[in-house]
Amino acid sequence: MTLTTHTLGYPRIGAQRELKKAVEAYWAEKITLQELEATGQELRARHWQEQKEAGLDFVSVGDFAFYDQVLNLSLILGVIPPRFNTCPDQADLDTYFRMARGRAPSGEPAAACEMTKWFDTNYHYLVPEFQPQQEFTLNAQLLLAEVKEAQTLGHQAKVTLVGPLSYLWLGKAQGEFSSLDLLPQLLPVYAALLQKLADEGVDWVQIDEPILALDLPTAWKQAFETAYNQLQAVAVKKLLAVYFGGLQDNLGLAVNLPVEGLHLDLVRAPEELEQVLDRLPAYKVLSAGVIDGRNIWRSDLVRLREQLASAQGRLGDRLWLAPSCSLLHVPHDLEQEDQLDSELTSWLAFARQKLDEVTLLAAALTGQLNQQREAAWAENQQALVSREASTRIHRPEVSERLAAIDPAMYARTSAYEQRALAQKEWLKLPLFPTTTIGSFPQTPEIRKARRGYKQGELGTERYQELMKQEIAYCVEQQEKLGIDVPVHGEAERNDMVEYFGEQLDGYAFTRFGWVQSYGSRCVKPPVIFGDVSRPQAMTVEWSRYAQSLTDKPMKGMLTGPLTCLQWAFVRDDQPRETTCKQIALALRDEVRDLEAAGIRVIQIDEPAFREGLPLRKADWAAYLRWAVDSFRLTAAVVEDATQIHTHMCYSEFNDIIEAIAELDADVITIETSRSNMELLDAFEAFEYPNEIGPGVYDIHSPNIPEVEWMVELMQKAAQKIPAERLWVNPDCGLKTRRWEEVTPALAALVEAARQLRKAY
Ligand code: GLN
Ligand code: ZN
Repeated sequence: MTLTTHTLGYPRIGAQRELKKAVEAYWAEKITLQELEATGQELRARHWQEQKEAGLDFVSVGDFAFYDQVLNLSLILGVIPPRFNTCPDQADLDTYFRMARGRAPSGEPAAACEMTKWFDTNYHYLVPEFQPQQEFTLNAQLLLAEVKEAQTLGHQAKVTLVGPLSYLWLGKAQGEFSSLDLLPQLLPVYAALLQKLADEGVDWVQIDEPILALDLPTAWKQAFETAYNQLQAVAVKKLLAVYFGGLQDNLGLAVNLPVEGLHLDLVRAPEELEQVLDRLPAYKVLSAGVIDGRNIWRSDLVRLREQLASAQGRLGDRLWLAPSCSLLHVPHDLEQEDQLDSELTSWLAFARQKLDEVTLLAAALTGQLNQQREAAWAENQQALVSREASTRIHRPEVSERLAAIDPAMYARTSAYEQRALAQKEWLKLPLFPTTTIGSFPQTPEIRKARRGYKQGELGTERYQELMKQEIAYCVEQQEKLGIDVPVHGEAERNDMVEYFGEQLDGYAFTRFGWVQSYGSRCVKPPVIFGDVSRPQAMTVEWSRYAQSLTDKPMKGMLTGPLTCLQWAFVRDDQPRETTCKQIALALRDEVRDLEAAGIRVIQIDEPAFREGLPLRKADWAAYLRWAVDSFRLTAAVVEDATQIHTHMCYSEFNDIIEAIAELDADVITIETSRSNMELLDAFEAFEYPNEIGPGVYDIHSPNIPEVEWMVELMQKAAQKIPAERLWVNPDCGLKTRRWEEVTPALAALVEAARQLRKAY
């Protein structure tokens, strides 16, 4: 009895972020193209070796990318927007980088392609742009060369590709047509690509169609049959991979497509296993994605063995084992973490360890646990027992507090109209009040001080003194500029989530837990491993100090519970809702302490509020319920006269406007400068009742916005929202900008507000 093991993909950035460093060095022209390519080749070889050593039957080829795997496919298929002025067959790595980021060491700069989130992950892909008469041409040399590379190293290569329908779905039609219209042109080229792989001796191609886990329009569902019937002609075995959710209404369709295998995400949708087993045609293999590719916890292998026992009985060697999705979304190797305690480490598994879990589980299922694996199996069980029983995780006072939440805790004392009166009385703000979103430039001096402090070279006192100087400077600048509601500037924060996580109990931080976010950018999400609580106030002293420097109302600044949750690896032993409410309670105490310290304007940032939305519409309401409740639990502890702000930096509110209104923040600031205030339509149509600050200064651009332009934007806003409820502010925080840009931009913003006051 055998079980085939594989992975849908592997992290490519390198355990030490070698790829990041190499591409950035190449962009800065510090290394040559040959050197960059050599790094890529070395990393691929190393990662394949790791897969082989773990005992997988295949190595994954095609998951490597110098920037993004979707962009790879765009180049393979010749989908290059005309502004890059490159014939598809002449596209090289510099074309690729120009598409990704607007410029490269060679070639004329042009506007980069749009980037957006890959399903519900924090990975961003480059959106394919389709022209009305889009042609597809095959340009597969690089991929074929990688296949050769793997084969030469003696590996069995399984190639992974984004499927034709997911590719079209993820792209954007540039004109009045649907990208689905392009399927007839795309399919022959896609088939030719498969044929080339077959010619190269590739046995299996994994075709990723994650859109089968979404709510699909009928036309798209139907297109699946057309497409795969046509691809059937190519004599290469196809594994159709679906992940990030269950198949649900697409189950019958997916099970019956004419391909040789189907991969399911049994972490997200374990309940579908039985149904699929009942309906899977006898010629197909089923790849069971049972090791969580989206989180960092060690799997419960005993439970998985039980879960899979009947599948194995029914399928025999047609059962394959794999992680639920590509391991791109987890850090590379736990073994590097030398500063986590051994107990916590024993609860975790990163990409490399997850490969071991796949093969260990396979060995257990086939009765092939040798001595070494017996030991690993026992260790797995011990770790789970230790985690379940750990007093570091379960804190009775936290669960008791959660259980004792009284519905009244979710609501402010009075309705907005009444609160607004109480707030006006002391705030005495002019019409079109000005404020910022929180952070000011993180200067090299600030970064240097923080580094010194973290490395122990700078004492706490000295560090705090330096940060106070920064705060004082920042407040002084805002006074000079005439900002109505100043902030302290967040100099002391490296990152809006990490800053709070470091001060809360229940959080841990890795040293090398990098996950690719886009291109060469990686994030290192904190790990929420236990019940969250707040040992002491986190921001009060800084805000109190800032307030002591000005007579203006100082705005306190917090990261909200949804964002803390969304941008972390979250424990899997309780619902996300529970963890979120624990964070909310901890932040609620911070809000209360800020108020008691005289900070009576408090902003609770929720840039990740929308990101938490489930992939299926049917699941939205449940999420929005606890998401809104968590925010309200944080905020609704203050008196009427204390003004709660929130901030969200994205541009789609239409479908969640009701929930946004339910947050009941007194003021919401949003990103609008690039959308010409169209974003406010949702607020207008809904008759959104509270105050809004539609950002008028695009902080992503180094350009200084002009007074007239901002006045005009605000006039547009005032046609949609009554002027009495409008604020004037930038789009987002200013931490990535320089003071030389920020000062004149804010001066112009304040001047725009002055002119508006005269006009209204
Ligand atoms: N207060 C944060 C800042 O100003 C908000 C950042 C964000 O919304 N992403 O940087
Ligand atoms: Zn923002």
